[in-house]
Order: sequence, then C-alpha cells, then structure tokens
Amino acid sequence: MSLRTLVDSIDPVNLLNQFETICSFGGRVCGSDGEVKTIEFLKKELNQISKGLLSSRKLDYRCWNGDASVKIGNEPYIPAQALLFSPLTPEGGIVREVRDIGQGARNEFESFGSSELKGKIVLVRHSYMFSPSHVHRMQKYAWAREFGAAGFIIANPWPESGLVAGGIMQGDPDGRSVPGIGVDSASAILLSNAAQKKEHIRLDVNGKIFWRRAESLFFDLPGVENKWVAFSAHLDGHDLAESAIDNAGGVAILLELARIFSQQSKRQIGYRFCFFNLEEWGLLASEEYLKTLGEEEKKRILLNINLDAVVGDPEITALISDHKGLKEQVKQAAAAIQSKVNIHEPLTKNSDHYNFAESGIPALRLVAGFDNPESNLRFVLTEGDKRQLVAKEELVSACKIAVSLSQRV
Ligand SMILES: [Zn+2]
Repeated sequence: MSLRTLVDSIDPVNLLNQFETICSFGGRVCGSDGEVKTIEFLKKELNQISKGLLSSRKLDYRCWNGDASVKIGNEPYIPAQALLFSPLTPEGGIVREVRDIGQGARNEFESFGSSELKGKIVLVRHSYMFSPSHVHRMQKYAWAREFGAAGFIIANPWPESGLVAGGIMQGDPDGRSVPGIGVDSASAILLSNAAQKKEHIRLDVNGKIFWRRAESLFFDLPGVENKWVAFSAHLDGHDLAESAIDNAGGVAILLELARIFSQQSKRQIGYRFCFFNLEEWGLLASEEYLKTLGEEEKKRILLNINLDAVVGDPEITALISDHKGLKEQVKQAAAAIQSKVNIHEPLTKNSDHYNFAESGIPALRLVAGFDNPESNLRFVLTEGDKRQLVAKEELVSACKIAVSLSQRV
C-alpha cells in the first residue's frame, strides 16, 4: 500500500470513538479498575483485527495506593493528592511550619538554605513538563530532601485545572521520610500566606504498598522480512481525571495504526504495536521487555515510534534521542504528508522510547505542544486532563505523522 493509501485509510470517526472509550475508563492508574477495563477493551479490539498476533507480558511491581490531606492550623482540610510512592506520615501527621520556595529552582532552595529549611515543609510549583528547560518534580523533591525538609508540597499553578498528581522516588533511599503531596493553585495561596505568618500546617499521607501484576499487550503484523517497526504507547495514567492527552490519545492512535496496517495484503517488513503498562511507574514494562530481547532481536527493530501525549496542541515535535540519522527521516516523513514536525535532538528519559534508545535501537517520541506552555498540555497530570481538550484533527494529524515516519525506514 502506498503512503497515500495508508494515510487515506485513517478513519477519523473510529479514532475519536476509540479515544473517547479509553477516556471513559478514567485515569487508568496502575492497580485501578480503569486499567483493567482498558486492557480488556484493547484485547477485544485487537482480536477483531485479522492476520495479527496478540500476546501479552505480565510484570510484578510494587503498587502504591494512598491519600493525603493538609490543613493550616485549625482551618478545614485543603484538598490534596498523595504523590505516588510518598513515604507515609506517622499517626497524627506531621505538624510543621511551611516555606514557599517559589518554583522550586535550585537557586531558590539555596537562597533559603538548609538552616532555614531543615524540618520545615516546602511548597514548590509544578511547571510545564514539555519543555527543554523543565525542572522535574523529582529533582525539586530531591533538593527538598537535600536541604533537610520534612515535607514536600507541589502546587498546580493553573487555577482552572485543580489538583496536580505525579510520583516521587521509590523507596526511602537515605532514610529521610519526606512525604509528598499535590495541591491546587488556590490552596497554594493559602499555604503561601501561612508561610509568611510562620504558621504550622499539618500534613497526612496514608497508604499502602502491595505487589500487583501489570499486563502489557503486543500485537504483531509480520512482514516478508523478519524486521520490524515498533510503535508504542503507554496505556496507564494518573487518577485525577481521564489521562486524555497523556495518553488515551496515543493508545487510540496505536489501535488505529494496527487496523490500517492490517489491511495491507503484503508487507515487506513487520509492524509491532506495543501497548506498554507501568510507564508512569518509571518506564518499568518497556525496560523489562527490552531486557528480554537478544542482540539479534534488537537489531531487527529498525525504528521505535513512541506516541506519548501527542494531542492537545496542533504542533508535534519528535524527540529523536540523539540519533542524528533520525533528523532527516523526520523531515522527509513530514514533507511527504505536507506536515510540519519540530525536532528536539537530546535523549530524553521521559517515556518508553528511552528504553529502546538505550538498547541501541533508533527511537523517537512524538509529543505535542513541546516548549509551548500555553498549550493544553499544561493540563497533563492535573484534574483538567479530559477529552474536551483534544480535537479530532489532532488525533488524525498525529496518526498521519506516525504512518509517514514508519514508511521512511
Ligand atoms: Zn505519558
């Protein structure tokens, strides 16, 4: 099938329906009903696509489940979200003064210093994640520990999208039990006022850790040659909203790609569709999958195209993992469909393509809204990440780019 025929086979209505169905399962956080329903739905859909081979891999992981609360003095509780893997607080919570560190940049921590921050709860702001200058929440959390803080609060700076979620480091490597929570922007103002008045706040995190098994799905459409393009998208998410941008959009496109490529009567090379779980838990499933591949099998994967947060803004960027050859490939693929794709060269550890790249496989991540903090991608990880943020045209456009890229290998 020509590129033109493949692109023309994209069914926008089907794509949108699949996207909305996946959104309807909720945030799909690992260990939730939404995760289970998503996997059932994908199996059902993939089984209806003829000529393909569906398989699954299961991985045991330490699941964390908890809730949080925070209050200033004797005021009512403020809405809060426990950050994944947060250490738990003792009974009665921790009662400390809070310090407002602003954005949570290194120099802001330094301007307070350890003597001022030791034993205090620090308040920082969540920042736009899809940017080369982004300082990750984990980094801010690490600095909070380094400066001796007793608690960590990250606030959503955008008032319209409620609470913010996310994870912090697993375990408690240095034995400092520093619980972490997310709050909304109105609460950040209250907490900042409390910081100025040196009031005490109380922070509680309750939860439990238990072993669970996460399933990832693989759908193979073999070609004449034992060589593959591996598409991937993570099916798990966060529980505050619908994880629509991150990553119902990517999963819906992956399904559509499988349907389109299954219609080819003959394929020179094969297409593998990897629906990874546990991406939000440190890219665990893709890491495990790539570890099981032998060197020869890795060499047979010519390219990984990872779809993660590819909707929510019309502009798409390819993060090409320091693989110089991919630059030209992306340019040609975009030109072939009269589209535009920006390029960001450095290797980024922000999604499953990282594990392909680390295995020596040419790998790229497509992402929307890169370096555009005004885009709808600012709602990722917040209560705002819902289907209304996504236009049908964005789903179609990202799907077309993925198709075109796969035809340049
Ligand atoms: Zn993602």
